Amino acid sequence: MPDARNGQIVVTGASRGIGAAIALELERRGLAVVALSRSGAAPAGHGIACDVADEASVREAVAQAARRGPITGLVNNAGLHEAHPAASLATEAFERTMRLNATAVFVAAREVYPHLKAAGDGLVVNIGSFFDKMAVPDNVAYCASKAAVGAITRCLAAEWARDGIRVLDVAPGYIETDLNRDYLAKDKVRAWLERRVPVGRPGRPEEVARLVGVLFSERIGFLTGETIYLDGGQAIHH
Ligand code: NDP
Repeated sequence: MPDARNGQIVVTGASRGIGAAIALELERRGLAVVALSRSGAAPAGHGIACDVADEASVREAVAQAARRGPITGLVNNAGLHEAHPAASLATEAFERTMRLNATAVFVAAREVYPHLKAAGDGLVVNIGSFFDKMAVPDNVAYCASKAAVGAITRCLAAEWARDGIRVLDVAPGYIETDLNRDYLAKDKVRAWLERRVPVGRPGRPEEVARLVGVLFSERIGFLTGETIYLDGGQAIHH
């Protein structure tokens, strides 16, 4: 396992799906990972139990990570997707999605900020979504939360650039994980994706992880505040 004393990247929602793939990829590249999940279990990195929707839990997890070594990066990946028609969507359900997908992204970034500033070359990668600019039926909360991820990314990038911290939004298209496996398994959806996505298939968690791995390995100092879409060409295809 890579030495935590050389710098650590905190990955939220690292127990499965895209977050687990990111933790594995970063470790494969020789980077030390602190893997946050509610249970504390993760396939790679040093696991810490943390509910990222709970501010105190995030503060405690960041403090625990900092005791092992400097924190040089953050991947805000944990997220929730619940589809529901807008007309009958309860405020509580709207806020549950906003809380995890948007507020928690800001809170975790704010909590690691002093550590990244001290390290001098910090990088925050937020996992957004290509839904961020779309009007997707039954997805008002999810679309709003991912649009907020783009805005949080731009604002933090502008405020923190002089502190040596860059902030990016990686926005995937359909990626096959627990979050949507049942939906993507439907014949009708498969056929629609084949027509609608130029590469003709959903993406794989490992493909998102590889992009995040490159961003952390290559350290492109002039790249900040951007949303990078990774959607098999879906957004450009009409
Ligand atoms: P999964 O449902 O497969 O995994 C979600 C992860 O988030 C799990 O590791 C889960 O950990 C964690 N998580 C959920 N709630 C919390 C919480 N309160 N505190 C800490 N961790 C939590 O999702 P995906 O891998 O598909 O999605 C990951 C990210 O990618 C999300 O932000 C999602 O919006 C985004 N995305 C996904 C797309 C897709 O098509 N799959 C497309 C575009 C974006 P555990 O339950 O073990 O605690």
